[in-house]
Amino acid sequence: MLEIQGLDAWYGQAQALWGVDVSVADGEIVSLVGPNGAGKSTLVQAIAGLHRSTRGTIAVEGVDVSRVPAHRVGDHGVALVPEGRRVFARMSVHDNLVLGAYRRSARAQLTAGLERVQTLFPRLAERSTQLAGSLSGGEQQMLAIGRALLAGPRLLLMDEPSLGLAPVVVDEVFDAIRAINADGVSVLLVEQDVERALEVSRRGYVLAEGRIVATGSAAELTGSALVRRSVLGL
Ligand code: ATP
Repeated sequence: MLEIQGLDAWYGQAQALWGVDVSVADGEIVSLVGPNGAGKSTLVQAIAGLHRSTRGTIAVEGVDVSRVPAHRVGDHGVALVPEGRRVFARMSVHDNLVLGAYRRSARAQLTAGLERVQTLFPRLAERSTQLAGSLSGGEQQMLAIGRALLAGPRLLLMDEPSLGLAPVVVDEVFDAIRAINADGVSVLLVEQDVERALEVSRRGYVLAEGRIVATGSAAELTGSALVRRSVLGL
């Protein structure tokens, strides 16, 4: 599904990623964890086309998208749930969702897509006409996930979906990640809640100071002293 090889990224003269190799197989949930400032957001933004100061390859289903503009990356089956939700506060819940279906092929599936999102998050259905800015943080996160799903992705990139949410809402978000994956969507999950992330993942990568410093099965990383030290600070 996704095969990143030798990815370097820069902000001006400052290098943020160094030779990153990351892959996600069809149907997998893969976690990307690491301390603040490690480069996790830079990596998902590079995949989504939002950060283009890079060198290396980002192959999605065999096609290098590293030079594809952000608004065309969706054509390759990729959608991003950005850090901080970024919903359009002055638009209704329904209109935010419809914006996700911006591609012609997604528009054709709009009704089915809306139904799927409403099944996944019944609270969004109840609040369909409400302004997105009036939703709770958890509801805004569900909306951001729903909007990304309406693009009809085969690979979903999620940047810190549980950040700042109450524990009970975090449970709902993780249940949704499992359900989305069960529908056949591959997921690359950036999370600060490392234990929860590894629980839903098959494999994971640890990024520190712009480099992949560990990779393995979820069980291997959960037990790893390096992860406990470098990510969890234990
Ligand atoms: P966090 O968990 O804090 O979001 P992260 O792992 O997602 O961290 P990034 O946000 O990708 O890390 O940042 C990686 C590095 O790039 C950091 O050193 C950061 O200071 C730097 N960086 C990020 N955004 C910019 C920017 N717009 N301009 C300059 N440097 C940036």
